[in-house]
Amino acid sequence: MKNHSIQLSDYLCNSLTITHTMKPNTQQLNDLTIQVRRDILRMVHAVNSGHPGGSLGCTEFMVALYQNIMERKEGFDMDGIGEDLFFLSNGHISPVFYSVLARSGYFPVAELATFRLINSRLQGHPTTHDNLPGVRMASGSLGQGLSVGIGAAQAKKLNGDNHIIYTLHGDGELQEGQNWEAIMYASAKKVDNLIATIDLNGKQIDGSTDEVLAMGSIRAKFEAFDWEVLEIKEGNNIEAIIDGMKEAKSRTGKGKPVCVLLHTEMGNGVDFMMYSHAWHGKAPNDAQLETALSQNYTEGESDY
Ligand SMILES: [Mg+2]
Repeated sequence: MKNHSIQLSDYLCNSLTITHTMKPNTQQLNDLTIQVRRDILRMVHAVNSGHPGGSLGCTEFMVALYQNIMERKEGFDMDGIGEDLFFLSNGHISPVFYSVLARSGYFPVAELATFRLINSRLQGHPTTHDNLPGVRMASGSLGQGLSVGIGAAQAKKLNGDNHIIYTLHGDGELQEGQNWEAIMYASAKKVDNLIATIDLNGKQIDGSTDEVLAMGSIRAKFEAFDWEVLEIKEGNNIEAIIDGMKEAKSRTGKGKPVCVLLHTEMGNGVDFMMYSHAWHGKAPNDAQLETALSQNYTEGESDY
C-alpha cells in the first residue's frame, strides 16, 4: 500500500467516529467520491458482472450520506439504537454500497476484491446472513426497502429513539406495487422520522422509465399520498446533496414522512456510460476500464 493511501485510510477509519465538528470538507468528500467510483468500476470489471450505472449515479449521495448526513455510532450492531439507519432498497447498486461501507470503516477495504465471488460476504445483492457490517436487510427483490424502513422508523418511535431512517430507491423500482402500500401506510401512520430518497435518473434496466412503464409525476403522486416532498436538482453535486438532505432533515418530526427526489445521471463520472441505460447491468471490458479509471483519478487514490 502506498504512503498516501495509508493517510487516506487513516482518515477514513477515523471517519466512523466522526463528530459534527470533524466532518470531512468538500474536497475530501469529492476525493472520496472519485475513489468510490474507482472501486465500483474495478469491482464489476473483475467479475464481469454487476450494476455500475446506478452505482455511479448514486456515488455522491452515498458518500454525503455516510460522511456528512447520518449520525452513526462507532462499530455496527443490528439493533442500531441511538443512531440513524440506512436501508438500500435497490440492492443491485451494491457496488457503491459496499465501497462506501468499507471506506467508512465497517469492514476491510480489501474485502471489496471478493465482490460477487462464491462464499463472499459481498454478494451481487446484499444479504444479512453472513453478517456483513453495515447491511441491515437483504435487497435485490425490488420494492421492499420502504416497508422495512417504515418498520424500523416505527421501532425507533416505540423505543423513544430520536434518530432518522434513511432509505434509497430506484425510480424504476417504484413500479413495484408494494411501494405504494408502504407510501400510503407511512403517511396514514405519520411516520415522520423517515426520509426516503428516490434516485430519479429516468432510467431502468430495459430503457427509460417512460418507455418501460411511465409513472407521470412522481412528485405529484407522493404529495397525493400526503408526503412532504423536496427535490435535489443537482443530485451528483456533493454540496447540493448536503444542503438538500439538511433541508429534508429539517422537515422530519412534523407529522409527515419525507421524500427526496434526487435527480441523478446514471453512469455519472464516466463519459461513455452517461446518458444511457446501457450500463445499468453491464461490466466494462479491460480497455473500457482503463478509460473509465483515467477519468476518475485523484492524487490520494488508494485502490484495494
Ligand atoms: Mg432508475
